[in-house]
Amino acid sequence: MHDVNHKLFLKKKFDQYFLKDQNIAKKIVNSLSFESYNTVVEIGPGLGILTQYLLNQNPYHHIFLIEIDEELISFLKKIFPIYKNQIIHRDFLKWNPEEINLQNFAIIGNFPYNISSQILFHILRYNQYIPECIGMFQKEVAKRITSHQGKKTYGILSVLVQTFYDVKYLFTVREKVFFPIPNVQSAVISLKRKNENTNFNKSMLFQCVKIAFNQRRKKLKNSLQLFKHIPNFQEIPFLNKRAEELSVKEFLQLIKEIEIRK
Ligand code: SAH
Repeated sequence: MHDVNHKLFLKKKFDQYFLKDQNIAKKIVNSLSFESYNTVVEIGPGLGILTQYLLNQNPYHHIFLIEIDEELISFLKKIFPIYKNQIIHRDFLKWNPEEINLQNFAIIGNFPYNISSQILFHILRYNQYIPECIGMFQKEVAKRITSHQGKKTYGILSVLVQTFYDVKYLFTVREKVFFPIPNVQSAVISLKRKNENTNFNKSMLFQCVKIAFNQRRKKLKNSLQLFKHIPNFQEIPFLNKRAEELSVKEFLQLIKEIEIRK
């Protein structure tokens, strides 16, 4: 276990909140199931608090670390020298797993909160390669991801993530275990990919869900005006409901109905 002065490394522009609690770090890493993969990609390893447990626990598994901060990259290469070729200096949002031929891996990370939704969208983009994700989010975002129909927090993130993954709120993490102390609580959640047939138009789903929730008070027949010209539009189910009333399954049914009429 290395002892570092977090202050020396801190850069606000990369939204860094370093976790200091070893037990929580261990608990996060232990949440990975290793059921159907043996490669793990860590987003934003920072000073390596999660990484060391990842390596301790599974020295034979493949790991890749993706970190945007060059100074942290040098630090990580110093403390984990034998993994230096797996330490990638990149913006995760611009990283494509196909570049290094990765086709089946889990994601783990204490994510930079300012881009956490974008990280999720990036994961959804490559969901065919990603069977599992364990991530720390701002608590409020974790609640939204794991929310269900009818709740106030139910929205775009809930529907899109839960279309592809079974989600679970694992535990809440208090502010004081980070340096610096953030203004908000955090929470760790798990995503496990569903086995269900995902035979539907992905971009149609994203488009419909975004439009429907951007006007969440309106009935779908009004918010989805974009499709009103398609044959038999009126017969599409759920049009008299609002976005927040539709379950994830019903959203899929809705877009399939739109799709067959187009
Ligand atoms: N995992 C560490 C650090 C968490 S802070 C810990 O728990 O202590 C978030 C980390 O994400 C920082 O190391 C930050 O530099 C990194 N980061 C921020 N934006 C990033 C991006 N776009 N791509 C990859 N890493 C990023």
